[in-house]
Amino acid sequence: EERHKLEQVLGIEAGLHSIHDLNKLIDFVVEKTSEVLEAEKCSLLFIDHDLGKLCVKGHRGIEESVVKESVLKMGDGIEHLAETFHQTKILPDTSSKQSSKIDGSLYQGETFLSVPIELRDHTLGMMNVSHKSGKDSKIFTDLDFKILVMIVRQVRIAIENAKLYRELKHLTVTDPLTGIYNHRYFAQTLDHEIIRIKRYKRDLSILMIDIDQFKLYNDTFGHVEGDSLIKNIAGTLTHSVRKADVVCRYGGDEFAVILPETNLAQAKIIAGKIIQKISELSVERPVSISIGAAQASPQTNRYDLVRKADSHLYEAKRNGKSQISG
Ligand code: GH3
Ligand code: MG
Repeated sequence: EERHKLEQVLGIEAGLHSIHDLNKLIDFVVEKTSEVLEAEKCSLLFIDHDLGKLCVKGHRGIEESVVKESVLKMGDGIEHLAETFHQTKILPDTSSKQSSKIDGSLYQGETFLSVPIELRDHTLGMMNVSHKSGKDSKIFTDLDFKILVMIVRQVRIAIENAKLYRELKHLTVTDPLTGIYNHRYFAQTLDHEIIRIKRYKRDLSILMIDIDQFKLYNDTFGHVEGDSLIKNIAGTLTHSVRKADVVCRYGGDEFAVILPETNLAQAKIIAGKIIQKISELSVERPVSISIGAAQASPQTNRYDLVRKADSHLYEAKRNGKSQISG
C-alpha cells in the first residue's frame, strides 16, 4: 500500500516535468494529488501580490459557487482562508511535530492537510486537501502528509523550471491571434521531449495539421472570418487532446501537436478524433483539415521528425485532403 502510494508520487513527478504550461500543471497536480491521497477536495491557491489576495488556481471537489464567492484576502490569515474555503475545521497541530514545522506545514488536522508553496524567500501559495475518503481510513496519516510535502516540493521545482524555461529565453511562447503556443515553443518543447525519450525510452509522436482550402475560405468570407476560423480550430485542437499534449500554431494555417507517451497508432486515433471534431465546427461552411502523423525513434532529431510528419501531411493533401497519413 505504502509502496503503491510512493510509486504514484514518482509518477506525478515524471508527469510534472513534461508539462510546461502553468495551468495544465496545476490541473494535473490537483487531479493526481486527490487521487493519491484519496481526498475528495483539493485546492491550489496562489498569492497574487498585485491584488494582495489568494487566488484559486486549481481545485477539485469544491463547488464553483464557493470558489466564486470566496473572498480570499490575505489579511484574513492563511489558515482561516483554507478553513472557509474547504468548509471544514482545521485542527491546529498541537502534537509536537517538529519535523512538520521544518517541512513547512501550517496545520495538520484529522480532515485537513495544508502545505505552503515556498520559493526561495517568499510564499507563492498553498496546497490543501481535505475530506479523505479512503477505503480503510477517513483520517490523513503522517505518510499522507509527507506525500503532500513531496508533491508540493515537486510543484515548486516544476514552477521554477517552467519560469526559467521562459525567462531564460526571454521570448514569447504564445501566438497572439490564438493564444496557443507558437512555433518557437513547439521547437523548444519537442527538443526537450526528444531528450526525454532517449533517456527513458518512451513513446513520442507529433501531428502536423493544415487547413484544407483555407485560401478559398479567406477569399469567400474575408480575412476576419478566416482569423476567426483559425481561432476556432486552435480551441478545438486544445480541447481534443490530453492535458500533457502540446498544441501549437506552427504558422499560417498550420498547427502542430506534440503527443508524449503516444505511439503512431494512438496518434492516428487522436488525429481521427480531431478531424471529426473540426468537421462538426459551426462556422461559415464546413471545414476540413489534413493531418500528417509521425512517431519519434530514439535516433530521431527534431528536424527529421518534423520532416517526416510534414511529408505525411503532403501525402494526405495529395490523396484528396480531409484525411490522416502516417
Ligand atoms: P491546401 O488545401 O492545399 O492547404 O490549400 P490552402 O488554400 O489552405 O493553401 P495554403 O495552406 O497554402 O494557404 C494558406 C493560406 O492561409 C494562405 C494565407 O493567405 C492564409 N493565412 C495565413 N495566415 C493567416 C492568418 O493569420 N489569417 C488569415 N485569415 N489567413 C491566413
Ligand atoms: Mg492549407
